[in-house]
Amino acid sequence: MHVLITGGAGFIGSHLADALLRRGDSVSILDNLSTGSAENVRGLEGHPRYSFAQADLDDGAALDRLAGRADAIVHLAATVGVQLVLERPTQTIETNVLGTHALLDAARRYGCQTLIASTSEVYGKSESLPFSENDDLVLGPPSRTRWVYAATKLLDEFLALAAHQEFGLPLTIMRLFNVVGPRQTGRFGMVLPRFVRQALRGQPLTVYGDGMQTRCFCHVSDVVQAIVGLLGRNTASGQIYNIGSSQEVTIRELAEQIVDRADSSSPIHFLPYDQAYAAGFEDLRRRVPDISKIEAEIGWKPTHLLPNILDDMMEFERDRLT
Ligand code: UDP
Repeated sequence: MHVLITGGAGFIGSHLADALLRRGDSVSILDNLSTGSAENVRGLEGHPRYSFAQADLDDGAALDRLAGRADAIVHLAATVGVQLVLERPTQTIETNVLGTHALLDAARRYGCQTLIASTSEVYGKSESLPFSENDDLVLGPPSRTRWVYAATKLLDEFLALAAHQEFGLPLTIMRLFNVVGPRQTGRFGMVLPRFVRQALRGQPLTVYGDGMQTRCFCHVSDVVQAIVGLLGRNTASGQIYNIGSSQEVTIRELAEQIVDRADSSSPIHFLPYDQAYAAGFEDLRRRVPDISKIEAEIGWKPTHLLPNILDDMMEFERDRLT
């Protein structure tokens, strides 16, 4: 199978490219290297079944050429990370909505199976845990910039489902929950790589708020297995799937575990939200996926537990420190 990965030089995309090439597929990447990095795909250069195009999603000619060769498209290119979204809401809206619109147009021209990356953010402040795909979504007001990301991804879901319903595009939506692992950058706010780096450098770990908010962290290699399982899967067409771990941890416990496993002398500092983000920032107290739907479809369940994930990330970051 020939798979086009948009955002393929990013954290998840580059791991997906590795896995697909390993199983014998051909891979084209389209990435503008805005948040992705050439370093992530350096090891693939010269591979006979691999090609890389540095281009934006609004480069219609590049997108058309790549979609024309692809059997399937995995659309991961997006503006991501709470910090980046807060700093650049206009760019977030343009990339996430106009980019997905352009991508779906190209996919429709060639009838490519399309997997669209969405996010657990779309569940917003819902308190009906665990979150399941047919739940109501509870977003905050547009005056709070955090919700830009969820709103753009939700519009992507509507666009994608419309392309499926109206034009028969074989299409699946993946709601990803706090994906972590080697190559993830902490530059745009993601907590786990930030804590790991802080612990390894002996700097304070900065827990925002009271640290009692929870998340479920899923190893990128598990997420890649879920994506690979959905490729070529006709019965997943027109469907939305949660992809994530259901092992819930408070951010405070996370910080403690990282300090402990890194054997670090770093203190843990609690930072009020208005010092961490702009005033009026809303954080989510709990976020847990119901993953029974994807398990029933492809028999997928995450295999990595948190200690295992932390060790993997520490090994990666240690190598980069030396
Ligand atoms: N967080 C934190 N310290 C940091 C970065 C994030 O305490 O240096 C918190 C953040 O407020 C949130 C959780 O960690 O409660 C997860 O944040 P992240 O940005 O990784 O993901 P998301 O909020 O999208 O789940």
